Amino acid sequence: MNILIFGPNGSGKGTQGTLAKDKYGLDHIESGAIFRKHIGGGTELGMKAKEYINRGELVPDDITIPMVLDVLQSSKAGWLLDGFPRSLVQAQKLWDALKKDGVALNYVIEIKLPREIAKARIMGRRLCENNPNHPNNIGIPAIAPNGDKCRVCGGALSARQDDQDASAIDKRHDIYYDEATGTMAAVNFYKNMKDSGFKFIELDGEKGITEIKEYLMSQLA
Ligand code: AMP
Repeated sequence: MNILIFGPNGSGKGTQGTLAKDKYGLDHIESGAIFRKHIGGGTELGMKAKEYINRGELVPDDITIPMVLDVLQSSKAGWLLDGFPRSLVQAQKLWDALKKDGVALNYVIEIKLPREIAKARIMGRRLCENNPNHPNNIGIPAIAPNGDKCRVCGGALSARQDDQDASAIDKRHDIYYDEATGTMAAVNFYKNMKDSGFKFIELDGEKGITEIKEYLMSQLA
């Protein structure tokens, strides 16, 4: 079982991706995490990638594409690929590589969320002092904090610094929502494909987490 998942930062991609990954016992292959591992290990690739990552830019394809394809090839369990492809070129190269290796793609999942809502959600995230997993978001009514305290335990809340950096959020979203050559172009590349052999699943990211989860489970065989 091999799955691609797309969704802008702030769409709940991590939550829904985990669900799909756990259902089939897949390897979670996350391009950003692979880069972070290389940087942590001080590898040559990590050093090259670091400067781009720190600027919030995409790492060049001649570094990224072989690195991701290599990890995919070493997966025995099947994979959930997250964070790649992020551009039309990467989408095409991935498809060519899968064809060449005779690897089947089973599902492509897209979480749709309007850009302004994704941004409001990121900026609305609040972190509980007692437990980072307590959901609190001033931009999502279903998980709004209790006044200025955690809705679960009453703990003090704070905002993550990087969540409040509007220009960094905009930069990431510029890449994601770019329909000409960016991530939305990659999404459309798969969505418009005929006789692809995979099922394309569209999720409405504006719905509640439970509703999205139930719909996703109903779509996966
Ligand atoms: P992420 O953890 O997905 O936000 O990725 C962190 C950073 O790694 C991104 O901001 C990019 O600089 C780089 N990166 C991750 N995936 C890709 C990709 N598919 N192509 C190019 N750069 C990537």
